[in-house]
Amino acid sequence: MRFAVLTLFPDTFRFMADYSVLGRAIRNGLISLETVDVREFATDRHGTADDYQFGGGPGMVMKPDPVFAAVDAVRADIPAAERTATPVALTSPQGAILNQDLVNEFASAPGMILVCGHYAGVDERIREGLITHEVSIGDYVLTGGELAAMVIIDAVSRFVPEVVGSAENVEHDSITSGLLQHPLYTRPPEFRGMAVPEVLRSGNHADIERWRRRQSLERTLRLRPDLLDTAPLTNSDRVFLASLGWSGTPD
Ligand code: SAH
Repeated sequence: MRFAVLTLFPDTFRFMADYSVLGRAIRNGLISLETVDVREFATDRHGTADDYQFGGGPGMVMKPDPVFAAVDAVRADIPAAERTATPVALTSPQGAILNQDLVNEFASAPGMILVCGHYAGVDERIREGLITHEVSIGDYVLTGGELAAMVIIDAVSRFVPEVVGSAENVEHDSITSGLLQHPLYTRPPEFRGMAVPEVLRSGNHADIERWRRRQSLERTLRLRPDLLDTAPLTNSDRVFLASLGWSGTPD
């Protein structure tokens, strides 16, 4: 999957390409991450990519012409058959809040073009004429869209086959599975008086599975009961949840 990010600060993406899971995915050719410096598409010789607001007001606004030119250049490189299926996402606190459904939608695309706003934001004509999706990473305001773009790229990349090992690795994660995940433990078996639950060391896989499922249900009920409305629950899950006081209707 190919990600192209339009930004005034391309260097900020370097750490993504160099480290850990995504760094390896890029080196292995599973995903590609191209940063496009919007300033290079400025039409004046000073490389002006932002300007004062019409009507007055604090903060600079990113100009439309360099952003349109940069998107055109990126799209020219995308095979025609893939072009319309490639979302052009603007990072924005005004957008739809990123969730698993949106991550799945993006992950099924051949690639993504992400536009990072900065300063006061972007000229409205970028929204009108260029953007297919406006995406927020939460109800707060960042100084720029770079971190938001990194969050989107990270979350989407996990669903590109082999980026995090087998599909099973992501299916059992919190939220993705519809529930919160069970607790995880590694060595040592005892640490500062806190022991790993005996069942996890029993070697009895049926018992381990049951314990994990129940922990996951109990934790979801306690911390994110809203998830239970849509989680894929079996009958025995419902019976167990009811025993904990859950008032959802057994079906
Ligand atoms: N004045 C704008 C906010 C500008 S913040 C407004 O009120 O809507 C500067 C840039 O940071 C934005 O253009 C956007 O690209 C990015 N940004 C800020 N908060 C964000 C959020 N919650 N999610 C995604 N991007 C965000």
